[in-house]
Amino acid sequence: MRLLLIEDDPSIARPLADGLARAGFSIDVAGTGADGLREADGADLVLLDLGLPDMDGVEVCRRLRASSEVPVIVISARGEEVDRVVLLEMGADDYLVKPFGVRELVARIRAVARRSGGSGDSAAEPATRSFGQLVIDIAGHRVTVDGVDVELTPKEFALIEHLSAAPGAAHRRRDILESVWDAHWYGPTKTLDVHMAALRRKLGHGEWIETVRGVGYRFVPPA
Ligand code: CA
Repeated sequence: MRLLLIEDDPSIARPLADGLARAGFSIDVAGTGADGLREADGADLVLLDLGLPDMDGVEVCRRLRASSEVPVIVISARGEEVDRVVLLEMGADDYLVKPFGVRELVARIRAVARRSGGSGDSAAEPATRSFGQLVIDIAGHRVTVDGVDVELTPKEFALIEHLSAAPGAAHRRRDILESVWDAHWYGPTKTLDVHMAALRRKLGHGEWIETVRGVGYRFVPPA
């Protein structure tokens, strides 16, 4: 997933770009609104600072929206009282107030990418994955079995989303934890088993998720 960060302050842009790169994103940085608009074409998601030297971030967002559907997360400085309604009216998908951690930003990026129909990893991802009686609606954040809604927590949904991206493949515990929890998960790995057990129970077809001994888990979709 390719991000464009439009931010003029290098003391913010540099560490943010480094952190996002470590989280697995490819990222371009533009220091002005004009540069940002020029470079927005190839981006899957735009991170937009409101206080730019050449034009207001609100104006950048409006111009982006005039020509593109690219998701926009606004980054505003503390003190710039920005009305959420105004941001959403101008077409922004979400906003964060500085200071914030990379971890929080990554979570927002993934959430916005999911809502806009991408997987967070690939913009070309279809919005719905169908496996016989099991349907995973990525964009709608819904899972149905035999047409019946399965109530999943956000973590459980993220787990099935992660596993079902590569059916039949063994997913390493570490990879699942990093993808579903955080890029740097230091908590007990038992958390993963607890959530996986709940997911299996709710699906009502425990055999769709196999334990791969010494590795992690595998999604075995119904025919
Ligand atoms: Ca700025």
